[in-house]
Amino acid sequence: MKYIESPKVYIPDPDDTSVFLAGGITNCPDWQCDIADLLEGTHLVLLNPRREHFPIGDPQAAPEQIAWEHRYLRKASAVLFWFPHETLCPIVLYELGAWSMTDKPIFVGVHPEYKRRLDVELQTRFVRPKVKVVYSLQDLASQVADTMAQLLGMLRVPDRQLVASIEPQQPRLIGHMSRPTNIRLKPEPYCPDCGGRMYLRKPTYRRRPGPNPEWEPFWGCGNYPNCRGTRGIQHNGLPEGASMWGRGYDR
Ligand SMILES: [Zn+2]
Repeated sequence: MKYIESPKVYIPDPDDTSVFLAGGITNCPDWQCDIADLLEGTHLVLLNPRREHFPIGDPQAAPEQIAWEHRYLRKASAVLFWFPHETLCPIVLYELGAWSMTDKPIFVGVHPEYKRRLDVELQTRFVRPKVKVVYSLQDLASQVADTMAQLLGMLRVPDRQLVASIEPQQPRLIGHMSRPTNIRLKPEPYCPDCGGRMYLRKPTYRRRPGPNPEWEPFWGCGNYPNCRGTRGIQHNGLPEGASMWGRGYDR
């Protein structure tokens, strides 16, 4: 585990998987420290906005802090939310609302006595039905560790297979198609419909609409046939639509 605390600058390595610790800071216990302990044995990079020493007297400190949070919420591979019961955490509610509407992986934990617990549960269920709200830091940490390990496994192993299996197809792709030139295989996009992992579908090409339809590769949802989400491939080789997973083409 690698630990980055505000206001430190973090430049991600291509293989980094980072988790932003969103959640109460003022008037609540240092749960960030507890979760860091719980995730100690993982390969994650933790991005913690809670500083050990916040320079309260410095007027520049607050805007700097907010800019840091904004920047690394965007950069993080996933966001973990924790709602302690000591405070309402309005900014955390705001951030949860904002990031729920994207396809970035999120983890949500609520203290059983948090005052707006029901709101968080219901709103999350409506917008991100796959997210399972948990009620302790231990459960939250296990969920993060398990899910991220699974995602990393999916990234690493099938990725090599994908690259290998697409290479023999290259001449055919180039011969038949004006686009795309170089399909970017990594990071894989998330399904726009269900948030699931997507895989490059190469043998069953999707028919491109238009006056001169051609068959082209596309990203298909891993939950097919239950989900039929797809993303096409743009001229530059990137998947259509923004994906929050990847560095370099997040919105
Ligand atoms: Zn899907």
